Amino acid sequence: MLLLIPGPVQTRPELRAVMGQDIAPWDNDFRPVYAGIRDRVRDLAGGSAETHATLPLQGCGHFMVEAAVRTYTAPGARILIPMNGAYATRMQRLVRECGRVPVPLPVPDNRPVTGEEVAAALAADLEIGHVAMVYSETGSGIINDPAEIGAAVRNAGRRMILDAVSAFGALPLDLGAQPEIDVMVFTSGKCFEGMPGIGFAVARIDRTVAAAGNAGSWSFDLSDVYAHALRNSWGSFRFTPAVQALNAFATALDLHAAEGGQKARLARYQENAKLLYDGALSLGLTPYLERKHQGPIIVTIHQPADRAFALQAFVDALKSRGVLISNFYNTEAPTLRIGAIGAVTANDIKFAVEAIGATLDSMGISRREAA
Ligand SMILES: *Cc1c(COP(=O)(O)O)cnc(C)c1O
Repeated sequence: MLLLIPGPVQTRPELRAVMGQDIAPWDNDFRPVYAGIRDRVRDLAGGSAETHATLPLQGCGHFMVEAAVRTYTAPGARILIPMNGAYATRMQRLVRECGRVPVPLPVPDNRPVTGEEVAAALAADLEIGHVAMVYSETGSGIINDPAEIGAAVRNAGRRMILDAVSAFGALPLDLGAQPEIDVMVFTSGKCFEGMPGIGFAVARIDRTVAAAGNAGSWSFDLSDVYAHALRNSWGSFRFTPAVQALNAFATALDLHAAEGGQKARLARYQENAKLLYDGALSLGLTPYLERKHQGPIIVTIHQPADRAFALQAFVDALKSRGVLISNFYNTEAPTLRIGAIGAVTANDIKFAVEAIGATLDSMGISRREAA
């Protein structure tokens, strides 16, 4: 089966093979593997040992966003969120349920937020301490630019939390050049093409130390993860992690480096996304985004107007041809969402576009423009 979803993604056989071992997280053979992962992740994010630390938790991206909000802001804090997609909406709920105050900045879900918009919102509300932004909006496929928005945040003397869950590993990020970013979060199962199960934060050490006492949760307190590392070594996890997935992540990092790192991975995903975008047009379908706003992570396509179209039936029929896409959508209008990420290449995408065309034909979908 070819998995074309924005996480968990298609993985390589070498990576899956690493999962076939029983290991203990505290074993002296494994501790250096974990400590090495933390160093490599920090370096890839542009951090240094003096300024930044990798602070993992077991679990998924939502858990990491919650941990970042709880750790780096105090209860009652006002947090500006550019609202241009489903993951921003999720962030708003997480912020509210953590007892912080989300301040939504409305932006349509088919374009990035601009630095001017963020600067104006910050100037209008001096109580806002943090901007929490989604880098790659996995709802629609747009990309918000952390360098542009970070400059606006820095100029306003505020701080930033970055949800880079579907971005980091493929899209560029240099925390060393962006001191306004307290913390960036991502997971093992997206652009690094690892197994799902581990969440990562890369955070400023000074802000992490200063944040002690904010979280109101032992489980989600990243300052406690840091304190634990100082007490028990960088190879020690506080609570039992998905250790096989963590071990496989070391292989995911090896494969990432062997491919040529972030730039090479981005180039492959860009080609995948372009083939999907062009393929949709060639089949008579309408992409959700204008080409200039189309990011390299996920391509969303308007569901066809034809009355014979039904999403679950289409997904099932496409799966019978060997391609699995999401059976839900996260955009304002009904869409098909197709991942461009994972261990997939141009040939896989060409195969998928043909399968989509054959599926539409077999379902008798002739009116393919937007519903
Ligand atoms: C996938 C994703 C998440 C987290 O999703 P989980 O299902 O909790 O792992 C958060 N933000 C973005 C932008 C994502 O793409």
